[in-house]
Amino acid sequence: MSRVLHPEDTTDNGKELRLKQEYFLTSAALQDILRRFLSKYDDLSMLPSKVAIQMNDTHPALAGPELMRLLIDEHGLTWDTAKDIARGCLNYTNHTLLPEALETWSTWLMGRVLPRHMQIIEGIDKEHRAATKCPDDLGIVKHDQVHMGTLAFVMASHVNGVSALHTELMKETVFSELNDAYPKLILNQTNGVTPRRWLRLSNPASSKVLSETIGAGWESDLGRLAELGAHEADTGVRDAIGAAKRENKVALSNWASDQLGIRLNPDAMFDVQIKRMHEYKRQLLNVFETIARWPAIRDNPQADWTPRVKIFGGKAAPGYFAAKEIIHLINDVANTINTDPVVGDRLKVIYPANYNVSMAERLIPATDLSEQISTAGKEASGTGNMKFTMNGALTIGTLDVANVEIREHVGAENFFLFGMTAAQVQQRYQVMDHARDAIQASQTLRNVLQMIVEGRFNPDDPQRYNGLVDATWNHDPFLVASDFESYLSSQAKVDTAYADPDHWNTLALRNIAGAGFFSSDRTIKGYMKDIWDTKSLA
Ligand SMILES: *Cc1c(COP(=O)(O)O)cnc(C)c1O
Repeated sequence: MSRVLHPEDTTDNGKELRLKQEYFLTSAALQDILRRFLSKYDDLSMLPSKVAIQMNDTHPALAGPELMRLLIDEHGLTWDTAKDIARGCLNYTNHTLLPEALETWSTWLMGRVLPRHMQIIEGIDKEHRAATKCPDDLGIVKHDQVHMGTLAFVMASHVNGVSALHTELMKETVFSELNDAYPKLILNQTNGVTPRRWLRLSNPASSKVLSETIGAGWESDLGRLAELGAHEADTGVRDAIGAAKRENKVALSNWASDQLGIRLNPDAMFDVQIKRMHEYKRQLLNVFETIARWPAIRDNPQADWTPRVKIFGGKAAPGYFAAKEIIHLINDVANTINTDPVVGDRLKVIYPANYNVSMAERLIPATDLSEQISTAGKEASGTGNMKFTMNGALTIGTLDVANVEIREHVGAENFFLFGMTAAQVQQRYQVMDHARDAIQASQTLRNVLQMIVEGRFNPDDPQRYNGLVDATWNHDPFLVASDFESYLSSQAKVDTAYADPDHWNTLALRNIAGAGFFSSDRTIKGYMKDIWDTKSLA
């Protein structure tokens, strides 16, 4: 039950294991919280003033019924008291706008594995329906499914999104009816990342430059990075920023040579897309653009190419076939391009296996270009984007959620924007044959798809990607085709900017200077003030 976090859930056995795991971890945490509370206090009505529980996504949404069960069955409280206490302690952070990603469990499975909880959930649902006079589709239990997002929402004192745009879209889309029924519950806390891990620990070279330029102490007061702006005109500082980046790239090249047996040129642009493998994050858009570079280089190898190393990293969920196909394609493309003697150092593609936090700590400090190219409106926040910005990478990105805020903080002229806005994405979905239209309009994309169906990257099994290409022509659910040309033009601007190292270092400096807002210290202070009603001990 605890050996693998998030076990595969495409089979009934897997689903059952996953539900049991979620219950096990949730119940263990709640029992520990109650044990610690009762070792100090004897009045359970004080629980909400001493304990704040943050449900991180729907995975611990059983916390509502489980805390009620503990309070009623084990501590003898009444239903109404238990429910008020539970709701007083609980808050819910939403992490996705994709309705298919909000968990549901069949009432059959829930009733068999957790019969007492099913009973409590039905009681909560009955009161929820009565209090909100809600239409049927607002219920927690409907069509024989328990909707965990709704359960978490109804049992929470506060519900929050994780970036400004995500929170607005939450109110307009997934939770619009619940927001009408329970006004003022939803608020925003833009995500952040810890600068101790993601800058000080993982990037000693840049940290040294920062401390020498703006003085010590920025690690716990990241807003101070803005002071870097005053040094923009100082050639010494710009050069030092460039030199720290190069030192990290040399270290990464040595690692790649060791681990992957491939020689990388540290003077090439390191272009990195590392994150969970998901269609909405559009690794496919990046690999299509990579493929497009190949014939262009071969046709004109003597042209003035800005050399690039394309680095991919990320795992797919165990049952996610389409995502695994994209991993396979990237690896096939890498094998083909990396062994083409005509291409040489102009383009290399690597996909180191087993992407995790340790690998992220190694890759991010060595990145020149951060790929944040999800379909606008689909990502909830992203935090990878923030790690890159504080490490002086420039971003190529869509106007998706936290990218919007990063662009505001670093300055629009220091960010490579492309693609449709969230509103345009909604309109584009209304266009019949949007994919076919976009592909017909792009000679480059047609060539890319043609090379893939010809099996140019997989002569051993030339049919391998027929399904993927067919899906791109006919469905393209995340609008890869519709954003392709815009992405290509933005990438061309990136190439031009990188060709001038001093200009690039200036842009990098501005990105670091604008990253202060994205410290998790700022985020945690927001939760303390707006949600937990608590004060810092320090
Ligand atoms: C930060 C981080 C993520 C989140 O990346 P996004 O680009 O925001 O999706 C995922 N995995 C690891 C290992 C990370 O360090």
